[in-house]
Amino acid sequence: MRITIFACGYVGLVTGACLADVGHDVMCVDVDKDKVSRLKAGEIPIFEPGLERLVSDNQAAGRLSFTTDAAEAVKFGLLQFIAVGTPSDEDGSADLKHVLKVAETIGQHMDDYKIIVDKSTVPVGTAAKVERAVAIELEKRGLDLEFDVCSNPEFLKEGAAIEDFSRGSRIIVGTESERVREAMRECYGPYNRQRDKMMFMGVRSAELTKYAANALLATKISFINEVANLAEHLGAEVEEVRHGIGSDPRIGYSFIYPGCGYGGSCFPKDVRALANTAEEVGHPAHIIEAVEQVNFRQKNKLFEKLYQAFDGQLAGKTIAVWGLAFKPNTDDMREAPSRALMEALWDAGARVQAFDPEANNECRRIYGERDDLVLAEQREDTLEGAHALVICTEWKAFRTVDFSLLRKTLLEPVVVDGRNLFHPESVKAAGLAYYAIGRGDSV
Ligand code: NAD
Repeated sequence: MRITIFACGYVGLVTGACLADVGHDVMCVDVDKDKVSRLKAGEIPIFEPGLERLVSDNQAAGRLSFTTDAAEAVKFGLLQFIAVGTPSDEDGSADLKHVLKVAETIGQHMDDYKIIVDKSTVPVGTAAKVERAVAIELEKRGLDLEFDVCSNPEFLKEGAAIEDFSRGSRIIVGTESERVREAMRECYGPYNRQRDKMMFMGVRSAELTKYAANALLATKISFINEVANLAEHLGAEVEEVRHGIGSDPRIGYSFIYPGCGYGGSCFPKDVRALANTAEEVGHPAHIIEAVEQVNFRQKNKLFEKLYQAFDGQLAGKTIAVWGLAFKPNTDDMREAPSRALMEALWDAGARVQAFDPEANNECRRIYGERDDLVLAEQREDTLEGAHALVICTEWKAFRTVDFSLLRKTLLEPVVVDGRNLFHPESVKAAGLAYYAIGRGDSV
C-alpha cells in the first residue's frame, strides 16, 4: 500500500518505519525542515531503541522516504495518517491546531479518494472536525471528492515503541465504513497474523478509548503514590504494601510502582484533556482531576525531601541528579519530574550536576548554557563536589551503586531516591541518610 504519514515525531517515525518494514511504500512529511534533512541524511532526531536500523534499512530499500513537500505527500498515499502533536492548550484542553492544519492541507491537495487516519491522541469529536476541515477546502476548490476519516489511536510506549507497534495488544480502528475496515486490515495485516488484534468500533468510542487507557494508567500511578505518602505518615513501607496488593490478580503488579510522579508527552496532557472534556460536557471527572493534582504534588516530593534534609539551607549547595528523561530508554524530558526538581533547586539557589544516559543533549536544548547546571558524561562525574545525590529516572545503569564509595564522595551523606531503587538497609549501612518514596522513616 502507499501510505503517507504526517509528522516525523516519535509516533510518525515509528509508524512509518514499521509499516515500511512489512513492505508498504511510506512517505513521511514534516514541517520541520531541519528534522527532515537530518532524516534524509540518515540521522535519527530522537533516541528510540532499534529505530535507527529500521529507518536506514527501509530507506535503503526504497520503501521509506521523507519530505517537507505536503502537496507531494498528499498525492502519494491512499492512507493519510495524521500523527502530529496535540499538546495541552492553556486551559488543559488538547490543542488541535496541528491536526486541523493537516486536515486543511489534505483538502487543499487531494485529487482522488483518501482515507484520513487519525493517529494523534485527540478528544472525542475530532474526526468530525477533521472531516469538516477537509470538506471546506474541497468546497473552496469546487471539488466533490470522496474521502473517509477514521480514528486509529496509538498505544506505543517510548523506549519500547517498535516492540509495541509490532506486537501491541490491540489495533483499534474507529469507523463505520466497510471500505475503511478493509483498507486498515490490509495496512496492518502483517502485524495481525498471530491472532486477530483488530478491534473495530465507533469513531467516538475509539477516540475515548485512548484517553480512558492513559487516564487509567495514570490513575494507578497516582493511587500508589497517594498510598506511599500515607505510608510515610503511618510508618509503613510502601514496597511491602505494593507486593501485598499486586499479588491479587485483580490488581496486578504493573503500574503500581511508587515514585516521583509521571511525566512524558502523554499522561499529563491526556489526563488534563480528558478532565477538560468532562468539564465541557458538564460532567466533571473527579477521579481524573484528582489524578492530576496528586501527580502535580508528587513531582515536588524530591525537592521537599532535599529541603528537609538540609533544613531549608539549599542555597549554594550542589546536587547530583541521576536521570533526566521522564522514564528509562528515552531521551524525552517533556514534563519530566527531573525538570520540576531542577527548577525548584535553581529557584532555591542550588547548583545541579546531572547525568542521563540519553537525555543530556535534550536537557542542554531545553535549558541552554547556565552557570548552575553541569551535564556530566558519566554518572560518577556528577558526584564530584556534590552535597547530595537524587535519583529521578530508573535507568538500569543506576541500580547498582557502591554505597561506601558514595559516602566518601558526597560532601553530605544524603541520598534521595525518587524511584525506590535501593534496599534502605544497604544505603543506611554505608552511613548515608536515605530518603525514598513511602518507605518508613523517610518522611
Ligand atoms: P512529537 O512532538 O514527537 O512530533 C510531532 C511532529 O509533528 C513534529 O515533528 C512536528 O514538526 C510535526 N508537525 C507539526 N505540524 C505539522 C504539520 N502541519 N505537518 C507535518 N508535520 C507537522 O509528537 P509525538 O510524541 O509523536 O505525538 C504525536 C501524537 O501521538 C500526539 O497526539 C500524542 O499524544 C500521540 N501519542 C504519542 C505517544 C508517545 O509516546 N510519544 C504515544 C501514543 C500517542
